[in-house]
Amino acid sequence: MSQPWVYGEQFSFSPPVRYKGLINQGATCYLNSVLQVLFMTEDFREAVERCPGSDFIDYHLKSLFGKLKDQTTDTFDITKKLDIKRVYEQRDAAEYFKKILNLTSPESSQIFFGKQAHRTVCSTCQTQTDTDGKFWHLPLTLLDSQNDFSVVNGLKDYFKASTFSGDEQMYCEHCDAKRDATFEFVIKRHPEVLTLLLKRFELDYRSMTYLKINCPVHIPHTIQIPENQTYELYAVVDHVGDLKHGHYTACIKPQEEDRWFKFDDARVTELDFQPFQSDNCKRGRMSQKVLRQIRHCLSPLLQEKER
Ligand SMILES: [Zn+2]
Repeated sequence: MSQPWVYGEQFSFSPPVRYKGLINQGATCYLNSVLQVLFMTEDFREAVERCPGSDFIDYHLKSLFGKLKDQTTDTFDITKKLDIKRVYEQRDAAEYFKKILNLTSPESSQIFFGKQAHRTVCSTCQTQTDTDGKFWHLPLTLLDSQNDFSVVNGLKDYFKASTFSGDEQMYCEHCDAKRDATFEFVIKRHPEVLTLLLKRFELDYRSMTYLKINCPVHIPHTIQIPENQTYELYAVVDHVGDLKHGHYTACIKPQEEDRWFKFDDARVTELDFQPFQSDNCKRGRMSQKVLRQIRHCLSPLLQEKER
């Protein structure tokens, strides 16, 4: 059978896929995108399925995931558990990702958590002071410019040591005086799944409102963070439009597939443009679609590769 004639993207032929969607209750696309990423993260899904009892949100996620395997599903239990009353109000996907993980059993949520230290070294006596903390994402600061943002450079900046001197000198207990010091982030435990938060929503202090930074973002297929830990991209939570009237979707590459799918509320389709494939250029499709796809990316999630 020949394929139908395709005229324009809006009429593109999309064959049915095996993955199911989530019903939007009004403006709950931010939640749907996050839930699909959690569902498609196999280790997380299995951990949730193993979790006994009903003390944690795992209980509700397990029920949701069970249905989502076979059918388009609603999220009423989850919005109730998260105390979301105004379902017509757009919220921040990253905030709800964190909220869900905070309500999840430690066994399930630990997949997304890492440990890092805020390390200060006195330039005079070389005394090293670590302040340890848990993290569930690495925040990358975007600049409001026309220039493209590179995730690789953003990570380099994040892990770059900075020096405090002059008026910014730090107090060193060992020297009992203010000294020049260097400061850096050091990873103490790598998470199984690394989440990068592209800080697209910035508070503008003049107007005291949040603005969205729309610069295009380049995300490589694999990234390395210190010390030589490699991660491979498998999911991106995407935001288009402005802060109040935007729309969230998730693009995910399931573990058992080498194709990417777009999860847009109840609608799940295979991506027309498959990223990171060497024959993309040959097909001449390395055009608008790629740019559109990376322009609005909010939170890439990356899975740990074997060391
Ligand atoms: Zn010192």
